[in-house]
Amino acid sequence: MTLRLLYHTYKSLRLKPLFGLILLAIFLPLYITPAWASTPRAEQGVLDLRNSELDDKGLQLGGEWKLYWNRLLTSASPTEYHEYVPFPKLWAHTTWKQQPVPTKGYATYALDILLPTTSEPLALYLPEAYSAYALYANGNLIAQNGEPGISAETTTPYWSQQVVPVTPSTDTLRLTLQVANFHHAKGGPYKHIRIGYLSALQAAQQVNYALDIFLAGCLFMGGLFFLGLYLFGHHEKSNLYFSLFSILYSYRVVGTKQYALHTFFPHLDWSLTLHFEYLSLFLSILMFTLYTYKLYPKDINKYIVRFMAGSCISFALATLLLPTTLFTQLIIPFLVLMAVGIPYTFYVYWVAARNHRPGARYALMSTWALLFIFVVIMLEYFRIATPGKLILFVGYIGFFFLQSLILSFRFASTLKKAKEAAELGLKAKSEFLSTMSHEIRTPLNSVIGMTHLMLRDAPRPDQKEQLDVLLFSANNLLTIVNDILDFNKIEAGKITFAMGPIDLATIARNIVSGYSKSAADLGIEIRAVIDPSLTFRVIGDHTRTSQVISNLVQNAIKFTPKGSVTLRLGVEDQTDKDVTVTLSVEDTGIGIAPEKQQEIFERFTQVDSSATRGFSGTGLGLAISKRILELQQVDLHLDSEPGVGSTFYFTQTFPLAPVVEVTKPVVSTVPTTEKPLEDVRILIVEDNKMNVLVAQNFLKRWGATSEVATNGKEALAKLDPSRHDLVLMDLHMPVMDGYEATRLLRERGESIPIIALTASIAQEVEGRIYSIGFTDIVVKPFNPNELLRVIAAHAPQKNKVVV
Ligand code: ADP
Repeated sequence: MTLRLLYHTYKSLRLKPLFGLILLAIFLPLYITPAWASTPRAEQGVLDLRNSELDDKGLQLGGEWKLYWNRLLTSASPTEYHEYVPFPKLWAHTTWKQQPVPTKGYATYALDILLPTTSEPLALYLPEAYSAYALYANGNLIAQNGEPGISAETTTPYWSQQVVPVTPSTDTLRLTLQVANFHHAKGGPYKHIRIGYLSALQAAQQVNYALDIFLAGCLFMGGLFFLGLYLFGHHEKSNLYFSLFSILYSYRVVGTKQYALHTFFPHLDWSLTLHFEYLSLFLSILMFTLYTYKLYPKDINKYIVRFMAGSCISFALATLLLPTTLFTQLIIPFLVLMAVGIPYTFYVYWVAARNHRPGARYALMSTWALLFIFVVIMLEYFRIATPGKLILFVGYIGFFFLQSLILSFRFASTLKKAKEAAELGLKAKSEFLSTMSHEIRTPLNSVIGMTHLMLRDAPRPDQKEQLDVLLFSANNLLTIVNDILDFNKIEAGKITFAMGPIDLATIARNIVSGYSKSAADLGIEIRAVIDPSLTFRVIGDHTRTSQVISNLVQNAIKFTPKGSVTLRLGVEDQTDKDVTVTLSVEDTGIGIAPEKQQEIFERFTQVDSSATRGFSGTGLGLAISKRILELQQVDLHLDSEPGVGSTFYFTQTFPLAPVVEVTKPVVSTVPTTEKPLEDVRILIVEDNKMNVLVAQNFLKRWGATSEVATNGKEALAKLDPSRHDLVLMDLHMPVMDGYEATRLLRERGESIPIIALTASIAQEVEGRIYSIGFTDIVVKPFNPNELLRVIAAHAPQKNKVVV
């Protein structure tokens, strides 16, 4: 909200740049006290405040003070030679005996104040002076900053601000101020001393310190945050430079201007703090320059950056190498550099915004804050006006906030880009796997189909053995392809459940009978123990439920060298709406060590691949089963003991399926006559010659006759209901695919059964297939029994064997 407001304000500023200046002109005076504001002035060393009102800010003690150059007095002596000089003024701008006063030296200033009548305790607010002072009131020392002396050795500079109570016994306060400077480029007092109520002055000072400490804390913590982002993120230099800039600047907030740090730690070494004051300025600007460069390298002039950075480094080196009296002179050239640098920064951000660089509009907004701060500082530095403390605070907070917004914005947009790239990669991977699987399934169809055919052609025993191996391997390959594809789909969150009425007991029995032969071959007993009360149908996904149970049973057989595998289905609870069932697959096999029991549910993990009795496995089965159940809010559990056996089980609640009248007999097993499809006339629509050959061979064997169309268009031309009873339609074909052909056939009113043949996973195409008008679906590579079952279910009744 606030951001939007700021942005809109900024937008209007961009439209009318003058508008910003007008705003500045209106609001600045509200917070800035101009130097020319009328206050009582001292004349000839006397300030008459008897008729003055003291307000919360206090009154400035400005005007003509007595000056005793090269004297350190504790009270003004009327007999000593003195001159009246304006106070406060740096020595560079003061004259003594018509000569400019040198910046090094010592002096005493004196002022008599005729106090206003008030019963409230009074106090003086004392700013720093260059570079040491001692203040006497009516001859008593009441405050000092460092130690003023008559030489560099006897003088100790210090910079801090203080509020000291004054308790004059008479109505006149005689101030005597000793000032000495031997260590700084500037000498003398330059800020106004003020008199006011003790409580008001103390409160104002506390507020000022609180604001400074708060601001420094914000900058320091912000700096640390971006440092962390740099160290633990992707080492983006802009984060590093901004963090160092913030940290260095946070020192300046408490270590300069109001010197909160010096007040709270009064024994700091003056030389150290003076070095820090200058170094932090030069280095923070260096960091800001580098930061801006890293932010918008294409919009900034490299040579200007080098010049700025080089200047900052030279200034910093000079600070380290030169004596204090020399390096403190660097401030003026540095301000000149800033006067060029800030407008240039403004220009760079403007170009960046024009080029739509990320976050540049915040950068541009921040330059307004920067400009504002600069103007305020300049006003104060050249003593044109005294800005209210809050205004600078707001300026600084605004500037740093907007700058950190740029980085946050960039960080977020990098993250977004990375996420998009990752998603794109994931999509590409999933599409690639989909295509691959499709491409592998099509030739597999021929391999499996042909093997089946050859097995039925009474092969010699040695040939049968080889064909069995071939069929086994091809089926294994198919399982692996399916597993990979399935897992990929689950990971991509693309799996959907086709809910419909299912008969759990029949599914369980069919799976057990399906595996009974392979179990018997291995000498393992396999049985299903099903709760007799489970006689009704429930709502569930037939394919997915079968898949989970098959996986568990298959594993149990795989990992059981001898003994038995039991599939149990027990009813836990039943209401008139749903039923809760526990399904378990128990084996007496090799078991799983406790430390491996979690791991095996991860993808591609196997306890010991040598234990798989020659069965290949991808280690995906359990991962898939677990995810399929989890997507239905069901947990897959395991109890296992090595050498004893394992039990995998889950408890799932299924809604009850509505009871329906079964009108049509359901074909549940495969017809068993020699020619189950005698005289059924089938149109095969398929472009792959090998697949055509496989299908034709089977159909011929089952007694059906077939005709072939190699694409959808041809099928449209060839199909004749008087000559055909059923269509086997491939989905992916050149010229016209199976979807389009079926749609057009239905459109022209054909009611002939059309069975889709697809190498895609059934669930992927199911929805689309039925909505177009297909009658059923068979997935390639097809199991001949499955193909026969589906054809028999839909072919005209003449030859169907119903069980
Ligand atoms: P795969 O069977 O293809 O290797 P799974 O994810 O189905 O992959 O199983 C992962 C591993 O868990 C298996 O390799 C095996 O080590 C272990 N495992 C699974 N079921 C059983 C079981 N019934 N008995 C012993 N170990 C099992």
